[in-house]
Amino acid sequence: MTRDALSLLFPGSCLSCGTVLDSIETAEFPLCKECMTVLAHSQIYGARCEVCSSHLISEIKICTRCRGNAFSFDRAISLFEYTGIIKELIHQFKFEGRRSLAVYFADVLGKKAVDCFPGIPIVPVPSSPQSKKKRGWDQMRVIAKKIEKIANIPSFSVLDRKAGIQQKELGVIDRASNLKGSIVFDDSHESSELREVLLLDDVLTTGATASECARILKDNGIQKVYVLTLALD
Ligand SMILES: [Zn+2]
Ligand SMILES: [Zn+2]
Repeated sequence: MTRDALSLLFPGSCLSCGTVLDSIETAEFPLCKECMTVLAHSQIYGARCEVCSSHLISEIKICTRCRGNAFSFDRAISLFEYTGIIKELIHQFKFEGRRSLAVYFADVLGKKAVDCFPGIPIVPVPSSPQSKKKRGWDQMRVIAKKIEKIANIPSFSVLDRKAGIQQKELGVIDRASNLKGSIVFDDSHESSELREVLLLDDVLTTGATASECARILKDNGIQKVYVLTLALD
């Protein structure tokens, strides 16, 4: 039986392995204890680039790419490598409509935000109009709203995205030029007080999207932009 069929029969089963959860009512997340433990152990630790969190090979503190001042953000931290269970869960969340995962993502991201970026308000990276329409909701806004509730960190959806080709369809150079002009600042929010923000996204791949968002935010008077993502690809 497929996982989808299983979860229709047992709505309280783990979205990663299908194990039926003890009690649908008391289950805090749509994941079993074993999968949560695997996830907890697969979080990124150890020596990482102090700007983008990528693996350091022979470099010290900052990777070669970041030495070349590649990004407009000041620092990016990712929770997981984009592989295994977390990759599967992000895929389910984004492409299979598993909105219930937002509560787990908000929990781990909220804890990291409190630890590493205390007191800094969140700005979610906007979804493209195409994926918002397809999904019916904006994935990072949904997570940001949950973090607001559980970790008491305010969020400001001051960025919007215009229609364009989906970033995942493109290579590194095309990603950067496809982004030009597609991210826009929406100043209809109460955002004039913002000095530092924490940009929230699902996966950091080339860093092009986060960097373009940071550039737009800085053009609009925000001085420091930090980035927090679930995974680093
Ligand atoms: Zn499981
Ligand atoms: Zn780096």
